[in-house]
Amino acid sequence: MKYTAPPYTYDVLPFPPVKEAWLHTARWRYVENVFREVCRKYGYREIRTPILEQTELFTRSIGEATDIVSKEMFTFTDRGDRSLTLKPEGTAPVVRACIERKLFAEHPLLKLYYIGQNFRYERGQRGRYRQHQQLGVEVFGAVDPALDAEVILLAMDFYRELGVIDQELHINSVGTPESRVTFKQALKDYARPFLAELSGEGQGRFEMNPLRMLDTKNENDLRLLADAPRLVDFLDPESAEHFEKLQSYLTSAGVPYVVDHRLVRGFDYYTKTAFEIVGNSLGSQNALGGGGRYDGLVDECGGGHVPGIGFGLGMERCLITLDALGIDLPTADERPLAFIITLGDENLVRPIAVKLLTKLRAAGISCDMDYKSRKFGHQAKRADDLGARFTLILGDEEAQRGVIQLRDQSSKEQREIAIDLAAAELVLFSHG
Ligand code: AMP
Repeated sequence: MKYTAPPYTYDVLPFPPVKEAWLHTARWRYVENVFREVCRKYGYREIRTPILEQTELFTRSIGEATDIVSKEMFTFTDRGDRSLTLKPEGTAPVVRACIERKLFAEHPLLKLYYIGQNFRYERGQRGRYRQHQQLGVEVFGAVDPALDAEVILLAMDFYRELGVIDQELHINSVGTPESRVTFKQALKDYARPFLAELSGEGQGRFEMNPLRMLDTKNENDLRLLADAPRLVDFLDPESAEHFEKLQSYLTSAGVPYVVDHRLVRGFDYYTKTAFEIVGNSLGSQNALGGGGRYDGLVDECGGGHVPGIGFGLGMERCLITLDALGIDLPTADERPLAFIITLGDENLVRPIAVKLLTKLRAAGISCDMDYKSRKFGHQAKRADDLGARFTLILGDEEAQRGVIQLRDQSSKEQREIAIDLAAAELVLFSHG
């Protein structure tokens, strides 16, 4: 039996394949830290929710007719006969947690962020996986368009901190569920005469979820829908004003944007603002991240009228973009400062080596030794493979005299020091 990772999943490794530098744990950590730092600056606090939820939370909130609910969820029945689903997105679980833990009552304006895994049974390709990580924020409690602008600016700030500069901000307004009823009708009336010419996907959406007809990459569908009615022309006065104000805030913040009339997101719960950040170095899976306002979602989940807005950014696509742009992240140095090589009588030298390792680590020095009792050459090679800056060589004779050879691996200089002073000597190097 040969085990493999499930289809369209990946492993993030401490030693990544040369051609897939983005699969490097150190890079993931770096990007996550940048996100945490940006969130801290904007006053967002971290929330962590379970990886599973009751299935109904998603079917109700995301919408039965969406791709996610109709064909992409990882759903199973647990041993207690409950239907559970691995979370396909991050917002509904956060809403559920805030209602259940009564956070809305205590925090009239609640700003949260999360870093979490999502699961969708998708047709995989580069940039699209069945397990993917999102960096997201959710804010609850205000309908001020300045908050929509803040959330967008936070996302843009994050990419700027990383040095990503090839992204475009697309915005649209999807209005209210009521204003969408009229729009959906107009869209269907427009598409009906050439319905048979639309792709299978387009025809399916015409029936099930007409708004989603607009979100297509099919060239022919795009041509047929080029003059389709536009959401902005169907907005209720409040949504229209909200959208205008958002644009003026973005302009005064100096953030360029494109009004994208075809931008409708994959979830039913969005109201008013919808936005997407599109990367130019990503090929077909070019959405770096997206989000929007969801003023009815908390109510839908039983939490009363609490407006909200948020986004989710794709971690993999962010990292792939960084690779494509040749951005080298300043990742932490994971090489050991010192590596202990032992020679001779094991019963004599090993206990001393173990004690020294313990002492060095207690002093904050990263260090290692060889646990395979091999010859000097093998141990020295292991030290080099790990990138150790120094080796500490301990033989019978050194052990008897209470000394050790301290060898600089690059200059090859070697000198004898007292074992008891090794930690003090090395601490000097660990700080510079
Ligand atoms: P969504 O939750 O669909 O709004 O997606 C938000 C962002 O997550 C997208 O813009 C992508 O960057 C990323 N994303 C969504 N689905 C996937 C996936 N299957 N694989 C990788 N990234 C994804």
